[in-house]
Amino acid sequence: MTNRRTNEEGWRPRIGVLAIQGNFASHAQALGEARADAVEVRKPEELAGLDGLVLPGGESTTMLKFLEKRHFFQALKEFCAAHPVFATCAGTILLAREVRNPAQRSLGLLDAVVERNAYGRQIDSTILSAPSTLGDEPLEMVFIRAPRIVETGPAVEVLARRDGFAVLVRQAHILAATFHPELSRDRRVHRLFVEMTAAAV
Ligand code: GLN
Repeated sequence: MTNRRTNEEGWRPRIGVLAIQGNFASHAQALGEARADAVEVRKPEELAGLDGLVLPGGESTTMLKFLEKRHFFQALKEFCAAHPVFATCAGTILLAREVRNPAQRSLGLLDAVVERNAYGRQIDSTILSAPSTLGDEPLEMVFIRAPRIVETGPAVEVLARRDGFAVLVRQAHILAATFHPELSRDRRVHRLFVEMTAAAV
């Protein structure tokens, strides 16, 4: 990170958090801890001037309905195609190229096939620790009715896995997790996203 703005003392990227539904407040707090200014986004106009965006977890079907009803789908797609975006859980479902179980419309920007609620009823919510590319310390992963990334394209780098399946991936300016890093105390994942955002400004 050697560009002018990030060299300015105290400069922080402005990162939006899609605040339609789901746990956007914990993302805003995690972004603050990772040295970014978080801004809640509910309307297309609120994307103006943001350096990056978080698509939080929640219920992807509900988010999709809201986006379509408020004519926000296309504006969100355009923003996410051009700026750093960090998706967690339902956000990853929204961003994927293809959604299964059941199929639903998506932004189609992450070259991945995602299966919703893929872990079944008994084990649909769990906390695990697993290795990642983010350092030696294992990464805590909170899964809540999580989807499973069943396929990734060649441009997608896998940063962590669960049972062999990708759970944290990066594709150029897109970072996506099937778990909830905002619910753990470890800030490595949010810090990575803040760095990606700062590097893109
Ligand atoms: N099960 C939700 C969905 O399919 C995702 C769960 C989550 O975001 N924690 O949209």
